[in-house]
Amino acid sequence: MVHMPAIPEYSSAELLSKMDAMGMPNELRESFRKCIDFHTYAAPGMLIGVFMVDYALTLLGKKPEDKIFVTCETTKCLPDPPQIIMHATTGNHRLRVLPIGKFAMTLTPFSAKESAEGIRVYLDKEKLKKYPTISSWYDNSPSFKPATMKKQLADEILAAGQGMFSHERIKMRVTHKKKWNSVTCPVCGDQVPEYMMEGDKCAACGSMAYYEKIT
Ligand SMILES: [Zn+2]
Repeated sequence: MVHMPAIPEYSSAELLSKMDAMGMPNELRESFRKCIDFHTYAAPGMLIGVFMVDYALTLLGKKPEDKIFVTCETTKCLPDPPQIIMHATTGNHRLRVLPIGKFAMTLTPFSAKESAEGIRVYLDKEKLKKYPTISSWYDNSPSFKPATMKKQLADEILAAGQGMFSHERIKMRVTHKKKWNSVTCPVCGDQVPEYMMEGDKCAACGSMAYYEKIT
């Protein structure tokens, strides 16, 4: 008989059956299933993000298919759930990701005005006092041991649900589509929208240069 070492984290199937056992509503469980699949694994931050999107939609009284703009305040994990659950993507301009480093997101329903009102949901440090494993993971504390504590972390996230968040009402300026002209960069000869030029050259020849050609 082969001795199998204990798996340090739950498989997707184990997580989903835990959700079933908790009596989680089908729609939310389905969001988890799709997001785990999209993200390729059940990252803790992504699981928190699924609860965050669900909570934000409930607060707004909106459905996932409504036209809502999302701004994520971290590049880590959190941008995935709004893409899958709400189809707010960078490509359709309904998802903006700001590298601020906070576990928070704002949701603002479409507004034809100069500003849009909505809500900001964030992981609340005060509320995390009740969830020491999430807290030590979020703090990147040495007391969180990934080798042995991943199951405990997932259990705590499922138990906490929306209980780890707080929210505030916000408004933000919005920019609407404007007419634009196409120009040719005199340095590289490529075509770009004029408003994206950095003075006399395109951003790739300027501040966003990120590659060198190999000859
Ligand atoms: Zn150029």
